[in-house]
Amino acid sequence: MTQKKQILVVDDNNINRAVLCKILNADGYKTLEAGNGQEALNLLAGKGREAALMLLDISMPVMNGYELLDQMTQQGSITRIPVIITTGAEDESTEVRCLERGASDFLRKPYNAELVQHRVKSLLRLWETAALISRLEVDQLTGVYSKEFFYRHAEELLDRNSADVFSIIYVDIDDFKMINARYGSAAGDELLRYLAAYYQKLVGKDGICGRIGGDIFVLLMKESRKNKKKEPDYFDTLEFADAPVKGFQLKCGIYPVKNRSLSIADMCDRAKLAVATIKHQYGFHYAVYSDSMLTRALREHQLADGMEEALEKGQFSVYLQPKHCTENKAVAGAEALVRWNHPELGFISPGEFISMFERNGFITKVDEYMLREVCRFLGRWISQGITPVPISVNISRADFVLNDLPERITGCVDAYNIPHELIHLEITESAYTSDPRQIIADVSALQDMGFLIEMDDFGSGYSSLNMLSELPIDILKLDMRFVQSGNDRIKGSKRNILSFIISLSKWLQLPTIAEGVETQDEFDQLKAMGCNLIQGFFFSKPMPAEEFVSYMEKQPLNCNAEKTNETIELLTPDSFETDGERPLILVTEDIESNREIMRALLSPSYRVALTENGKEACEYLMAHHNDIACMLLDLLMPVMDGFQVLEFMQSNGMINEIPVIITTETGSNSELRALHLGADSFVGKPYNSEILLHHVRKAVEEKSFWKLRREFENQKGALYEKAYLDELTNLLNRHGLSEAMNRLTYNEKYTAVILDIDDLKKFNDTEGHAAGDDVIRTVADVIKKETRERDIIARIGGDEFMVLFREMDNPKVALYKGTRLCMRIGEAAVPGKQFFLSCSAGITLACQSETFSEVFKRADTALYYAKREKKGGCCLWESQMSVRNTETNE
Ligand code: C2E
Ligand code: CA
Ligand code: CA
Repeated sequence: MTQKKQILVVDDNNINRAVLCKILNADGYKTLEAGNGQEALNLLAGKGREAALMLLDISMPVMNGYELLDQMTQQGSITRIPVIITTGAEDESTEVRCLERGASDFLRKPYNAELVQHRVKSLLRLWETAALISRLEVDQLTGVYSKEFFYRHAEELLDRNSADVFSIIYVDIDDFKMINARYGSAAGDELLRYLAAYYQKLVGKDGICGRIGGDIFVLLMKESRKNKKKEPDYFDTLEFADAPVKGFQLKCGIYPVKNRSLSIADMCDRAKLAVATIKHQYGFHYAVYSDSMLTRALREHQLADGMEEALEKGQFSVYLQPKHCTENKAVAGAEALVRWNHPELGFISPGEFISMFERNGFITKVDEYMLREVCRFLGRWISQGITPVPISVNISRADFVLNDLPERITGCVDAYNIPHELIHLEITESAYTSDPRQIIADVSALQDMGFLIEMDDFGSGYSSLNMLSELPIDILKLDMRFVQSGNDRIKGSKRNILSFIISLSKWLQLPTIAEGVETQDEFDQLKAMGCNLIQGFFFSKPMPAEEFVSYMEKQPLNCNAEKTNETIELLTPDSFETDGERPLILVTEDIESNREIMRALLSPSYRVALTENGKEACEYLMAHHNDIACMLLDLLMPVMDGFQVLEFMQSNGMINEIPVIITTETGSNSELRALHLGADSFVGKPYNSEILLHHVRKAVEEKSFWKLRREFENQKGALYEKAYLDELTNLLNRHGLSEAMNRLTYNEKYTAVILDIDDLKKFNDTEGHAAGDDVIRTVADVIKKETRERDIIARIGGDEFMVLFREMDNPKVALYKGTRLCMRIGEAAVPGKQFFLSCSAGITLACQSETFSEVFKRADTALYYAKREKKGGCCLWESQMSVRNTETNE
């Protein structure tokens, strides 16, 4: 016996107890003793909790054996601990009474040691097996069937109901790992239990539910007319308003049971195939199995079966696609692309197998093979005296799982004596989203060793712009979708984005490659925008490596697009302006000498408009606000001072469009007041010309940057719109918010505000939901007006909004911003209603490194305190407020 089992001996007779304990101890058990039923109960609640078995006398003082059994039944412990009754010469009716109460066996006095040991041992063994079975049958965590038993019971259920129509539904929680990582595994467990209960109820008496994997439930569900109609809704996350974790996505695959000769496991596999078609696709919650899915899966299997052999037998080959200089069309390099010549299936392009290889990890072998082949090829070239061009290989994100990737690559390249700068590594933008830190470290190491890093498919991911300056990159490779012309309307905005990215990359001193260029027109446009390199069918399709040498010979020589420092100048502020005109700066200042200093300082780079007081400034603003790139504003002036100008700008919605730099006497404490009114920064008097110019340059760049960036995000946003936006207000939804939070700048400090409309429910009830929607829209409009372009706004619940004021970490300003939002909402009129809005706010300072739930909890706690004081109030989170335990208060 490895671990001593504990046995509870209950008898009022000391000698009887001593005898039994001696017998049991001799057989290796630990014993605990109780003199009556009550003592036994106390022990069961305390140190006897783990007891494996009980020996129980019937007649005892205080609480006898029957009473104890009754109590144990009531508390449920009778199903946990087997009981052997120790009797004298009682009659049969005693035994019956005991069995009725859940006892398992009997021992008669006087005790025979061997018999006692035997009974105990066999009862323990029996009990353990039984416990094991029930443990296997139901999943310990959720209480629904475990895999084997789901299969078994599902089969029985189908057999018993051969005339009914059933479906197997395979439910997978998308990114469950992330939920565990984000909210903790206890919350993950909680969600599993919640869903299990939900599905158990959903299938009802006619179906069954099981959990067959960590985050996978399967249902066998009878199709009644009722649930046929509503089917898809059942799997929509919207159903789960009261779930313990928010923002999770479910993916459901449905196999309508047609072929009953299939095993349940096969049926589940088919439902799973259906899920696979919608994995990682936002907005898709369910898919119904069709036979073509099976065909595709079988082909994938066939490919997977043959992949090892393909590598050994040289069925993979290297194709090269040239990259040309835009300037003189010379060949500047090539990209290596894999092809598979399959003995049965013929020529297969990577589109069909790369993502599968990425999933099963085989890609690391293919990429290693490609790198080796490319090195061999370059080595041959060099030995033949041909001047080589750099060749890029694709590095899959899966390759980074190997923690010695830099060493492997270097080892391979060095084995062939290839100079590192002849190898470029293409790493897709999206690779950086999974574990940026590790990937950045590896890629930086590779860059340090002299390999050139190309960021592939740039613009297709979401993190791009924020991360750009932090990533080790030498060349930006624009995503093909930005180049290829769709219809004419899209063409216009795509052009904008392209030219923006290209100017941005110049600013960062990174050369750009456009791929997927097919037409002369596309080539011309990209050339005009200043794109450095072009790859695409316009020049050539990928070709077998052997053909590449003769291709090169026919092309013009010498391309130096990568020598960026010589060819690319740093952007001057106006290179962002699309019309080529210099940005216009409005200066408002009452002292003439100051005005002249400003004019002298600014006019080399900017157009300057001078105004002498607030009134003139406002008139100028009214006429030209669309053209003004930045405003320099003095605070103390006759005829309308700076504060009044700010107020004017605010009420005309200009404050978020035009950056305002306050020029103020140093030491005056009007700064905060101006900041409250929407000013962006300060320059103290007397001016330091460099500081002033720096602020102006920054403001102008930021303005153009945000404008273009907005367009850029809108473009991409269209792809995700459905999943990220709240339909009613067009603000982000909760999902969009957490996505946006992922895209904050590294370590950025910001202020988070939760706003809660007071009494919306009451209003809904009395005025109707359409009017309620009006209220929500009104509030959304106010928030939009009160925030800057770069701030992030989301509607995260029926009556709850969240605002992230970016780059704002001053508690005073934070509190002010929150209060102001509440005030403005309180002033807003709901169209056609005599209804006074009121809104409470919880505020917290936060940092990009925190999770959504951390930030949310603090803001929500502050909100709770705000409401406790009085509705319509506003409260800033402070460390002495204990964080409330509730996840949300929707
Ligand atoms: P990618 O890295 O973005 O490669 C560019 C793809 O665009 C190639 O498709 C190329 O043939 C195609 N392409 C080039 N110019 C044009 C054009 O003008 N028009 C159009 N419509 N297409 C053009 P391919 O060779 O089928 O490769 C597809 C993807 O498979 C690659 O996309 C890359 O992600 C992956 N891949 C290919 N070879 C490898 C490899 O050796 N290792 C890894 N990890 N991935 C690879
Ligand atoms: Ca590539
Ligand atoms: Ca690409």
